[in-house]
Amino acid sequence: MTNFTGSNFIAGEPSQLGTATFTSVNPRTKQAGSVQFHNATTEEIHAAVVAAADAYEQSRNFSAIKLASFLEAVAAEINALGDELLQTADMETGLGLPRLTGERGRTTGQLQGFAKLLLEGTYVEAIIDTALPDRQPAPRPDIRRMRFPIGPVAVFSASNFPFAFAVAGGDTASAWAAGNPVIVKGHPGHPATSELFAQAINRAIVASGFPAGWFSLLQGESVEVGQQLIQHPLLQAVGFTGSLRGGRAIFDTAAQRPNPIPVYAEMGSVNPVVILPNALATRAETLAEGLVTSATMGSGQFCTNPGLVFLLDSADSQTFIHTYRDKMAARPTGVLLNEQIESGLEHAVASTQSRPAVHTLTGGYVVDGDAFAYANTVLQTTGSDFIADPALQTEHFGPVTLFVTCASSEELTNALRALHGNLTATIHAESTDLGTAQPYLDVLREKVGRVLWNGFPTGVEVVHAQMHGGPYPATTAPATTSVGYTAIQRFMRPVAFQNTPDALLPDALKNTNPLDIWRIVNEVKTKDAVS
Ligand code: NAP
Repeated sequence: MTNFTGSNFIAGEPSQLGTATFTSVNPRTKQAGSVQFHNATTEEIHAAVVAAADAYEQSRNFSAIKLASFLEAVAAEINALGDELLQTADMETGLGLPRLTGERGRTTGQLQGFAKLLLEGTYVEAIIDTALPDRQPAPRPDIRRMRFPIGPVAVFSASNFPFAFAVAGGDTASAWAAGNPVIVKGHPGHPATSELFAQAINRAIVASGFPAGWFSLLQGESVEVGQQLIQHPLLQAVGFTGSLRGGRAIFDTAAQRPNPIPVYAEMGSVNPVVILPNALATRAETLAEGLVTSATMGSGQFCTNPGLVFLLDSADSQTFIHTYRDKMAARPTGVLLNEQIESGLEHAVASTQSRPAVHTLTGGYVVDGDAFAYANTVLQTTGSDFIADPALQTEHFGPVTLFVTCASSEELTNALRALHGNLTATIHAESTDLGTAQPYLDVLREKVGRVLWNGFPTGVEVVHAQMHGGPYPATTAPATTSVGYTAIQRFMRPVAFQNTPDALLPDALKNTNPLDIWRIVNEVKTKDAVS
């Protein structure tokens, strides 16, 4: 078993220059751990970014093969951590071993998936428009473009995915795959888990012959650590997963730098679900069961938790809501990640309950006991009240559902039009409802990154076609995804070369196509050499 050091890890070396420390807390018992973790100091933050900038001088020209073998090595080192990783994360998060085992597979799988993407090569998006010397009235020059890494990237871990959105999670994997060094701000909810990851990554760095500054871990339970990191002049981009409040603060700080940098912040979401009457008429019971399972999964602590459910008001829909309420009340209460999540949830639900048109059907309170916990909660309001009160779109990060019953299809459409940006939206309908569903789908498409048909939004596949993002406040960058392999584009920057000699061009743009990758040459997708 590891003896945790409680250190930051700066370019491969443990470091604890500061005196301010914190511990992790077991959410099942509220007992603090014995290891003191050191908040990173200004000096350590500076050292981490300078080391990353030095590492970038080498890594910006690393081949795709070299980067891919490093990603494979990290995946292998994570697996080699074995049960200790699962047990440590379980103690710090209370998420349970089955869930954490699955999340570890997703985390190593996405590292390996990015390795495959690199070896295939098309991700650099090579486009070549050859010269037209005889074009009239003026000749066209030879222009060739492709994507390059962007430079040192800061990644902020989320509390609810200690593996997949954390130290070696999707943001880090995509930034590395693009060829960038990464400085991670670990989440203070799971510092020992972060330390295990740092040790595994550092082993992979040594084995792969990568520069030590390619990765650093900054621990901290103070917003100061993250705020100082974002302001470092050598930093080039930020990947953030967490709350709207945190993401917005980081986005604002990055925008106020003398040289603003992009912030890819993936934040909270209420994930509207629309249930059409025929779906209720044919499968109310299974729908209620599936929705309860989705809403209580991980104690509701998913950014894709279906928090808002829209129905047309009817006897069927009232029966459905009561069935749903009873099922929620009957499900065991889960453990919440930490005290801040519990108090944040208590505050958010109390604020929604204080709105004049909201009724509490079950739950609505912190559960007393050894663990951090909140009762499974069902709230109800009307379409007209929802339209009039934007506060009803606040995320409740826990097992909470707000039903919105609409008096007419027009009111439902207007309620959907009033939605803020979200990660997902779901429609439940029958095959005979396609015409009825189309206008709702058209409205929802404008509001979200992923539309689901007869499904549940929790569970996000890591595939090329995935879009995990959406308009603000779901993210600060709606044109990109944080899950799936196009996530690499966030941390790359296109450069065009005009009339540049072949010998000076990168391999991906050379006439002979030595990498044998797909390119677009004079508007045609091809692997052929340029003649
Ligand atoms: P969080 O409290 O925002 O923390 C995330 C990270 O940001 C932590 O490292 C935190 O460090 C840092 N941070 C927070 N406020 C900051 C500030 N003002 N300046 C600098 N750094 C700051 O979020 P969380 O508790 O981990 O996660 C819960 C939220 O994440 C939910 O809203 C959930 O929906 C969202 N989430 C979104 C996705 C997605 O893909 N969209 C995925 C998972 C979770 P310190 O605590 O040390 O400040």
